[in-house]
Amino acid sequence: RNYRSHTECRGDINRLNTPFLAIYESLIPAEEEKEKQKQLMALLDKHVKKEWPGARLFLYGSCANSFGFRKSDIDVCLAMGDADINKSEILLRLADILKSDNLENVQALTRARVPIVKLMDPVTGISCDICVNNLLAVINTKLLRDYSKIDVRLRQLAFIVKHWAKSRGVNETYQGTLSSYAYVLMCIHFLQQRSPSILPCLQDMEITYSVNVDNVKCSFFDQVEKLQGFGSRNGEGIAQLVWAFFNYWAYCHDYANDVISIRTGSIVSKRAKDWTRRIGNDRHLICIEDPFEVSHDLGRVVDKRSIRVLREEFERAAEIMQHDPNPCVKLFEPY
Ligand code: ATP
Ligand code: MG
Repeated sequence: RNYRSHTECRGDINRLNTPFLAIYESLIPAEEEKEKQKQLMALLDKHVKKEWPGARLFLYGSCANSFGFRKSDIDVCLAMGDADINKSEILLRLADILKSDNLENVQALTRARVPIVKLMDPVTGISCDICVNNLLAVINTKLLRDYSKIDVRLRQLAFIVKHWAKSRGVNETYQGTLSSYAYVLMCIHFLQQRSPSILPCLQDMEITYSVNVDNVKCSFFDQVEKLQGFGSRNGEGIAQLVWAFFNYWAYCHDYANDVISIRTGSIVSKRAKDWTRRIGNDRHLICIEDPFEVSHDLGRVVDKRSIRVLREEFERAAEIMQHDPNPCVKLFEPY
């Protein structure tokens, strides 16, 4: 392979801003979807409160982190307060309760990696997964949502990247490629690293929000309305950023030594984290540090085969962004 870094972007890059923004606009959910989600949450909440008065329901994942496409399923977390519960028992009981209402396809998957109840609400048409006590996901959802409020280019970039990953088949953790969550972390890191930077590092600022979850201290600056205009010294448009994002992952990232870390707002070394060799199933071939569970590498699903697939896709995207007359079509061509 040739590791050619395009140090200079094509001259007509800004002509691509309009078509990329049109794609972004076509993917964002309509307002009425939010209303339907609220309606379903209210129904679920009624059932949960009746059975477990102390419990609470939270939305998490793409329906709440602002990076969700239209017509997505919703992810819900049932917070039971007590950590010492039998999740399977709760989920089986929850499934029974929900079956007795007119919810469809209610199923408890108690043996999944993250045990859940799945269901479909025929009134709103929304499908939903409910897990128990997955509070770190609720907190990382808030962190992502807070970042998205600082500069609209994060949401634009993440939508384009997720759309690209889904079109190209590289958003499948069971096949060794990356989760949507991992791609959003890559986008945040990338915008923290622009010069001038487009995003700050919220975990490296004054602490205005702090919770302890599963023995992990999660704290960061969350008064993001005070950070409006943070990135305005950087005038790069979406097309330029998409180009630079793929150029970075195709030709500039040091896969052998570097870990991207939005927690620190920079790169940390694999050596410092002891992520230099395979341990169990964690190969650390592309390293993306979780902002709170810092021993957790979101790239751990990637293996010898899928790292090649991923890197070839980054290179393909970078080449298209550099040379193709019509990148907004070519980039998203089904594989
Ligand atoms: P999509 O639009 O593809 O459904 P999504 O934002 O729901 O995207 P997922 O990757 O399905 O993304 O993850 C849902 C949520 O679960 C994330 O927002 C995050 O809060 C949490 N999550 C997912 N994977 C991990 C992980 N490996 N470690 C910690 N939290 C995770
Ligand atoms: Mg999801």
